[in-house]
Amino acid sequence: MAEPQTPLLSIRGLEVRYETDEAITHAVNGINLDINVGETVGLVGETGAGKTTTALAVMRLLPHRTGKITEGCILFRGEDVLRKSNGEMRQMRGERISMIFQDPMTSLNPTMTMGEQIRESLEIHNKGMSAALTDARVDELLTMVGIPPRRKHEYPHQFSGGMKQRIVIAIALACRPELLIADEPTTALDVTIQAQVLALMNELKESMRTSMILITHDLGVVSEMCDKVAIMYAGEIIERGSADDILDDGPHHPYTVGLFNSIPDIERESKRLSPIAGLMPDPAALPGGCKFHPRCGDAADACRSLAPPPFVSGEHIIACHKFGSSNGGRI
Ligand code: SF4
Repeated sequence: MAEPQTPLLSIRGLEVRYETDEAITHAVNGINLDINVGETVGLVGETGAGKTTTALAVMRLLPHRTGKITEGCILFRGEDVLRKSNGEMRQMRGERISMIFQDPMTSLNPTMTMGEQIRESLEIHNKGMSAALTDARVDELLTMVGIPPRRKHEYPHQFSGGMKQRIVIAIALACRPELLIADEPTTALDVTIQAQVLALMNELKESMRTSMILITHDLGVVSEMCDKVAIMYAGEIIERGSADDILDDGPHHPYTVGLFNSIPDIERESKRLSPIAGLMPDPAALPGGCKFHPRCGDAADACRSLAPPPFVSGEHIIACHKFGSSNGGRI
């Protein structure tokens, strides 16, 4: 029997709060997640579910005045990310973990040429690399993401949105990180370019064995890209499993069912979509019991007062009273 592998990234009991004078926002509420080498894990849910906050916590990039990790641990190759110094974290970001944001302009400097920006990223993390080698690597990275190297002297505004995002990917991959966190990397792009960027990310993942956390609300993207999926709601993971577990017709959390019903199904030619009624609860005033109960058509009395224990079937875990409990504890 194959030895169970040690996860590249292991998140345990993570809680994140944003604290201001007015309110305490419970953004992430005790999540557990493992990512193995070479694996792509989709973090899926509506805006405000806690997906980006989870990613920022892993990168240690939470806004330092308001964002606080109040519980839990994040292990990267067994090293405790939360105990690293700021200097060690700067080193880790880029070299071992990189992040791609939704809007490429968040990551690009409009006053520097694209070549200079890739070069800068290489130089920060490869002190002592010769100028000739750095130049060659810039050209190689541009070629890898399908941009002719002769365009390295151009500025961000001279590129289309899709090309800018591909260059952001080149910058993120410049140091061959072990983990790439991509936060809605294709949402700002039109559908054809979206498909090209996703195909590129898949190719790079295969060739470099990079693990990936892919944050998305798009289940189509999940089916293209992910090995495992965690569905987030109100700062909790409410269902988790392999991509097949999540995408097949098996039992699902009522929120996951709602997510499926709110996307167009081209194969079944369904014309009517039924978005989930109501809104995600205010994270500064979360409801008791199951946090989805105010929006759930299946809610029963227990759902309003008791947090649902996880129902486990192999790798597939659902936190919902409908399915009962098979092991207690939290997903
Ligand atoms: Fe709905 Fe209850 Fe399940 Fe929550 S625990 S999703 S309210 S049935």
